Amino acid sequence: LKHAKECLSNRSKFFRLNAFIALADSSSMISRSLRSDHDTRNALSDKLIAIKDNICTDEFPTTAASGILKEFTSPYDATVVKQLRHAGATIAGKTNMDEFGMGSHSTHSHFGSVLNESLNGGVISAGGSSGGSAVAVATGQCWAALGTDTGGSVRLPAAYTGTVGFKPSYGLLSRWGVIAYANSLDTVGILSSTVRDARELFNTLNHHDPQDPTSLPVSTRNRLNSSTQSKPLRIGIPLEYNISTLQPPVRTAWLRALRVLQQKGHTLHPISLPATRHALSAYYILAPAEASSNLAKYDGVRYGSRAEGIDGTPSSVLFAKTRGEGFGAEVRRRILLGAFSLSAQAIDNYFIQAQKIRRLVQQDFDNVFSASNPLIAPSACGKESGVDVLICPTAPTTAPLLQELENQDPIGAYMNDVFTVPASLAGLPAISVPVSFGEKGGETAGMQVIGQYGEDGLVLDVAEQLE
Ligand code: GLN
Repeated sequence: LKHAKECLSNRSKFFRLNAFIALADSSSMISRSLRSDHDTRNALSDKLIAIKDNICTDEFPTTAASGILKEFTSPYDATVVKQLRHAGATIAGKTNMDEFGMGSHSTHSHFGSVLNESLNGGVISAGGSSGGSAVAVATGQCWAALGTDTGGSVRLPAAYTGTVGFKPSYGLLSRWGVIAYANSLDTVGILSSTVRDARELFNTLNHHDPQDPTSLPVSTRNRLNSSTQSKPLRIGIPLEYNISTLQPPVRTAWLRALRVLQQKGHTLHPISLPATRHALSAYYILAPAEASSNLAKYDGVRYGSRAEGIDGTPSSVLFAKTRGEGFGAEVRRRILLGAFSLSAQAIDNYFIQAQKIRRLVQQDFDNVFSASNPLIAPSACGKESGVDVLICPTAPTTAPLLQELENQDPIGAYMNDVFTVPASLAGLPAISVPVSFGEKGGETAGMQVIGQYGEDGLVLDVAEQLE
């Protein structure tokens, strides 16, 4: 109950940051926590958890921060929400985000930007697209939050808010009831204050879901390497991530993280992932292509709020007006990009090439990890010269001032994802943890731990050592 009361008081204190689109009613939150306080059988029984607004809940509207879904309430809970409720958790509310998950600063929302405050009070980017979930955790408005990560949307907000952001291996957490952005990349992710909390939530959610056709089947889950860290590890440093535009504080935090791991007896090994430099371009072809197909159903007839005053007009006018009014500028840009790269004249040069790059990115990772990829070579034994995990920054800079972003062009915003998209393209587990770079502590930059497919436990272990 103490926890619920603290969250409620933080809720009024940080209301101005616009982290939530819908909030649970405070009296019902208190009465639920009171009830669950007495019920200690459940793992999450006294915990308040916030849910990103592209994950369906029957108790609140689910808008994906889009004008086109502003009146939508799902008739059911997503599987991940159901799992949380079964474990005794209380839903704190629905968090603000970039519309349909498209963006890196949580400024592309029908409900206004999410705000984040730096230690000296400046208004900075919350990261995106799960910025509302990250700010809700950072300001103690909930115990932990769910987000989604397609190309970095859990890890980047974690890095910008000093929280922990975990994107599990693709296919481990159910996507049933999660509004699709780019199906082949979408994952549900976790934002929390500590790695331990992230692990607890992950364990609650990591189960096969027969309702999600991309949920990893039990037989494959049994083959995954569930071992945790017991021996000194070989830590890989991807040289391609040491770009000239890496901000000095981020480089300092990277070096500090590597030193900590070395002091714990692990060894450091420079490695190369040559396809990394094409990963961002490939992502920004593939994700919009899938998005343009996914968003086709929001036409005001099958789904979505219909534009006013157009009854009786031809359906093409109805669709165009509804979609033109309902979608924000960034979403419209992605639909156009996707429709173009899938068109007959462009598909060979864009979509097909991007798919080839995706495969090269996957092979790059398989070449450096000591463990083989269980989805590709289930019985092959590992390479001795390989590394166990990779350590690299989550983003090239710390959170920029929101004001600086006003004149940023879309490509500038896409650049923020340069370090997060490779793990997304390959479906690998990756976590962002805050590592301090200042003398006095306080200021942090996000560092990523990336592991081989299915080695989520190991990734969490290493992240814990960086805290
Ligand atoms: N910023 C990236 C994009 O806009 C990632 C978004 C995400 O992971 N949902 O596509």
